[in-house]
Amino acid sequence: TLKRGFAHMLKNGVVMDVTTVEQAQIAEEAGAVSVMVLDKLPSDVRKAGGVARTASIRIIEDIMDSVTIPVMAKCRIGHVNEALVLQETDVDMIDESEVLTPADELRHIWKWDLTTPVVNGARSLAEALRRVEEGAAMIRTKGEPGTGNVAEAITHIKKVNDELRAIKSIYDSGDNQDLVRMSREFKVSYDIVEQTAKLGRLPVVNFAAGGIATPADAAYLMSLGCDGIFVGSGIFNANDAPERARAIVLATTFWDETDKVKEAQKMIDERQSMLGLDVKTLELRMQDRGGSA
Ligand code: PLP
Repeated sequence: TLKRGFAHMLKNGVVMDVTTVEQAQIAEEAGAVSVMVLDKLPSDVRKAGGVARTASIRIIEDIMDSVTIPVMAKCRIGHVNEALVLQETDVDMIDESEVLTPADELRHIWKWDLTTPVVNGARSLAEALRRVEEGAAMIRTKGEPGTGNVAEAITHIKKVNDELRAIKSIYDSGDNQDLVRMSREFKVSYDIVEQTAKLGRLPVVNFAAGGIATPADAAYLMSLGCDGIFVGSGIFNANDAPERARAIVLATTFWDETDKVKEAQKMIDERQSMLGLDVKTLELRMQDRGGSA
């Protein structure tokens, strides 16, 4: 529970992907609650191909020295030693991320063995609860990273919400045997299914991620019940990054006030947005990597 405290403090905030000290400073000035350091933005990972690994430790440390907000960094799925190196670097949170090339196609990191909190992506309630049982302190949607297309993130959060409603109604009906059935289907313990059904929400903070490019995208995901926003390629791939970063923070904070979201949307120029990719024609679907879902 100590590990989860940090994730709660990020609620209603925007975490921005950065690759340089300059970008991290722009993110901090724009009001990001945290920055996520990676070697390449997800859209550039797509272009570059090859193996995507954790970022240079020197860059992570330079960024930690130049901003006062918490610093996160990504490690490959299942790569225990990248995670341990990031923990030794004293980052505030580790993202075990499908944006990087998975190191183990069958196993995620057993996160209870780390003292640094870890965030994981999920496309469904089952996937989210498997990660929480492994020790994830925070969940985010996977979406389809690096596309500038928010459609997959919307699909993932709506699916999780539908599944939460379903298990909540099973719980309310008192049908324990049906919760046992769900736990077998989800491949998680009965205890975590019961706890989640009783809460009617994930037992950890749940953020949106994957394809968010505009203030309106952020506001929409907040309206679907997300606890906060991760923006990957959407800011520093746009040609109006400082303004857009501020606008996305504004829209995330005031997502339920349409005049504020309009004000935020007016701060950006659609001609400066990242061009984006159609999810249907992608060669690499990061969300599916190694995934048996
Ligand atoms: N997502 C990604 C990116 C994966 O690499 C994997 C593989 O383990 C999974 C999901 C599936 O994991 P699980 O079936 O344990 O949820």
